[in-house]
Amino acid sequence: SVAAQSHSLSTYGGTGRFSLDDIYTDGLLEVMDGSGETTTLGLEDVVGPLGTLNEDADTVLVSGEAGSGKSTLLQRLHLLWAREALLTNTFLLFPFSCRKLNAEHRELSLKELLFLHCCWPDRGQDEVFQFILDHPNLVLFTFDGLDEFKQGFTDEERHCCPTKQVPIPVLLFNLLQGTLMKGVMKVVTSRPQAVGPSLKRYLRKEVLLKGFSPGGIDCFVKKHHSDPAMARRVLESLQANTVLLSLCHIPVFCWIVTKCHQELLAGQDGVPQTITDVYLLVLQHFFQRKSSQSQGVLGKAWLEEHLDTVLKLGQLALEGLEASCYVFSGYELQRNGLTEQDVSMGFLIYCNDLSVTDCKRYEFIHVTLQCFFAALYVVLNRNADRIAISRLFQSQYRQLLGRSQRCLGHCIDSSVEEMESHVTEKPNLQITAQFVSGLLSQRHHYLLLECCPAAVRERKVKQVVKSLSKGMQRHFKSIPRPVEGEKKSMHAMPSFVWLIKCIYEMQDNSIAQDTMAKLDVEHLKLTYCNIGPVECTALAYVLKYLRNPVGLQLDNNSVGDVGVEQLLPCLHICHSL
Ligand code: ADP
Repeated sequence: SVAAQSHSLSTYGGTGRFSLDDIYTDGLLEVMDGSGETTTLGLEDVVGPLGTLNEDADTVLVSGEAGSGKSTLLQRLHLLWAREALLTNTFLLFPFSCRKLNAEHRELSLKELLFLHCCWPDRGQDEVFQFILDHPNLVLFTFDGLDEFKQGFTDEERHCCPTKQVPIPVLLFNLLQGTLMKGVMKVVTSRPQAVGPSLKRYLRKEVLLKGFSPGGIDCFVKKHHSDPAMARRVLESLQANTVLLSLCHIPVFCWIVTKCHQELLAGQDGVPQTITDVYLLVLQHFFQRKSSQSQGVLGKAWLEEHLDTVLKLGQLALEGLEASCYVFSGYELQRNGLTEQDVSMGFLIYCNDLSVTDCKRYEFIHVTLQCFFAALYVVLNRNADRIAISRLFQSQYRQLLGRSQRCLGHCIDSSVEEMESHVTEKPNLQITAQFVSGLLSQRHHYLLLECCPAAVRERKVKQVVKSLSKGMQRHFKSIPRPVEGEKKSMHAMPSFVWLIKCIYEMQDNSIAQDTMAKLDVEHLKLTYCNIGPVECTALAYVLKYLRNPVGLQLDNNSVGDVGVEQLLPCLHICHSL
């Protein structure tokens, strides 16, 4: 079952064009030791001893941003295990998806969880389960996408009985911390934001997945295109556009760019510069594929032609994100008016799973595509409530506010717990806000013209600009007065980088200029902010407008050579880097 389930990649839909073997390309894996030194790992080391920080813990965390390849890595691990090419000491492997566990509202025992969600042994269930209890060291559980689990990690409720029924979060959290089934190795994937200090203390080690190396991009494009001449053309076009090349370090972007090579090489709408450009490319590609099947070609007003489908998918996507819901039943699709024809466009796919259920369930090809549709809905829906945009941009501050108020009567620890249970949807809403900024950019004015009245668009642009400016002000206000004899310095938080990325998506020099005019520091510290080549492009775009020189501190990120190249436009304003 595991081999069959992990044979092909969901992004290639039902096309069956590629098996995982054909397309899998190694990503960059690193572990950090106690003193901050990093070591590179191979896939075989994920479960091995290398990089272990806590010998008593059995949970390995693989963390990486959306689209960095976490699910694919886990899928590769499953496939190689099923073929006995890796993890040969593991007898039984149980793969779980946290997004699917969200839909389980019953109380279950561990035994039921295993057999209902992973496999259904026809015979000898009791013997199989007894084997698991007797030999935990021969068993591996994997949990994909902890960041998509509705409830954030807490270790309040202890539970150690494998046959007692409890709510799913209690089961999951006790498995991860090792109270339940001590000795069973667990591999869990998540975006970094969703893993807070209370879970970190139960981790054996944290493996960072950093996407593709430059060599990985090369290898992926060559695997994707069996025609070497085509692969060469795509690679040449990437070399000629380093912004696009920097995006390709994130595998999901690399997949889109490679898949949409025809639109890319035709270059009708200019060279993509932003992630919004890249996702518009994929939208166009899917609609084009459908219309060429019926002998049609996409006209200039292609978005308007498909507006109805886009809005219905958009509404489903947004409501899903707001409720941390990534899997939809046929009934939910119907309720949103989605027809079979809408589904056949290919943005939604059937869930591939082993759980015992008789109804079909759907998900977006990738969570970032769900965010993109949600953003399209926010921008194109004429009836959207007037505060939808400010709500989107302020979701994180609202949480902070709510927390600090409620914190008054609580001890520090409970605020940490609360933080972890609120962070799940934040990264997705941030990505959505980034797409909203991009869609409202002047670059896409003509595309949106027929879909959204100019006055409504203008109002939305103003709201976004105001929200970005307010967000930046919050950061600037937090800058402490300089200590005498020391430089005035600002330590940016990760949301500073997010705001910069939104400004970049808008591709409007005057917004970048206005924002930076108000930043008056001599030293900008951006350590541990998850900065990769994509973020460097945005940073340089905005920082080049600083009035006075700064020292830019970027330690403990993954800038790399391509990132440094992206920083060139702002080097004139950096007195040190
Ligand atoms: P994440 O789980 O981090 O959001 P995914 O594993 O879903 O990311 O990756 C998104 C898409 O990017 C995949 O469906 C696949 O098309 C592509 N991809 C990711 N990692 C790899 C890889 N190692 N080799 C080839 N393609 C990959």
